[in-house]
Amino acid sequence: MAGRNFLFVPGPTNVPDRVLRAMVVAQEDHRSPKFPALALECFAGLKKIFKTETGTPILFPSSGTGCWEAALTNCLNPGDKVLVSRFGQFSHLWADMSARLGFDTHVIEAEWGEGAPIEQYRQILEADKEHKIKAVLVAQNETATGVSSDVAELRKAMDSVKHPALLFVDSVSALASIDFRMDEWGVDVCVSGSQKGLMLPAGMGVTCVSQKALAAAEHAKSPRCYFDYNDMVKSNAGGYFPYTPSIPMLYGLREAIAMLLEEGLENVFHRHAYLAGGVRAAVMDGWKLKLCAKDPKWYSDTVSAILVPEGFDGAKVISRAYARYNTSFGAGLSKVAGKLFRIGHLGDSNEGMMLAAVAIAEVAMLDCGIPVQPGSGVAAAGNYYRSNSPTLGTA
Ligand SMILES: *Cc1c(COP(=O)(O)O)cnc(C)c1O
Repeated sequence: MAGRNFLFVPGPTNVPDRVLRAMVVAQEDHRSPKFPALALECFAGLKKIFKTETGTPILFPSSGTGCWEAALTNCLNPGDKVLVSRFGQFSHLWADMSARLGFDTHVIEAEWGEGAPIEQYRQILEADKEHKIKAVLVAQNETATGVSSDVAELRKAMDSVKHPALLFVDSVSALASIDFRMDEWGVDVCVSGSQKGLMLPAGMGVTCVSQKALAAAEHAKSPRCYFDYNDMVKSNAGGYFPYTPSIPMLYGLREAIAMLLEEGLENVFHRHAYLAGGVRAAVMDGWKLKLCAKDPKWYSDTVSAILVPEGFDGAKVISRAYARYNTSFGAGLSKVAGKLFRIGHLGDSNEGMMLAAVAIAEVAMLDCGIPVQPGSGVAAAGNYYRSNSPTLGTA
């Protein structure tokens, strides 16, 4: 098919040409005296992205899922009690992993479309007088339902009952696109990956660990080896790795960080909110459809999960868009399969791309018999973009 495939899944995201070019490099010796400069520059840049002075960024040759496992096995002892909430496929998978790794996993169930149930976390932590719960897990952005949660509020709830558990945050589809503050929010492990807001191919797990988490990792008895924080931190201090890192990914990461910092993180967050605003205008004002996210306070600025009307199949919209219009949208996963389709609006995106996404979603829905008003989504998104600014005030 002529032209590029339009990629609007919420990861992997579009890789900017600048990053692609930076990755086309000859291989080099990762033990050479010249090598550490590259790694150390990446770590310094990542500290700005995580908004941390005291945390330690760590890169694993994995996807985000590997960093989930690293967080659990490095900081906890076998059988430790873990508190997690489930309100979508990703929070489900992390809870499931925790149980499968043998941790005593207490799952708070919330409706898919709602955010993290902060008050329930608070009550359970308050009742845990003996501090048996060692880690609290939360997905900052549940990619399956397009729901963002307030990590600062969760930290406040933990502090209000003076609970000493570690706080682990999945920011895979939020970091570098929705504000994340490692130090200010007292996050102990932030889990992320390369192929979402960081605009890289998949294949690099990007995580950041607090001093408290590293201290726990010094004594934690859960078995791990390849994903051991201690081995990593020891080698990384000199700019090296305990095993061979992906050289092109490091060059790509350095370039992606440079692009994010040139734009300015606050502008990056603003742009994501702005682009999301246009897509939401198309969904609600144009098509008169609903998001899976049940309340505006939970609307995600990186992905919109759009409910198709009763009696229609979201999977057919996705198939039609792919087969006929060379465009990829995100599927409904697990419990919400068929009920929705998702438009990813994170990473290297702009208005033109979003208007294309909306236009193609619209024609694909019409092809599937979904009665949306032709042109209504594009008109609503266009109006939104025309009346809002893509950058913060003074630029
Ligand atoms: C994509 C994603 C993951 C999984 O990451 P992989 O890189 O596919 O392992 C985990 N959590 C969330 C919220 C995600 O969006």
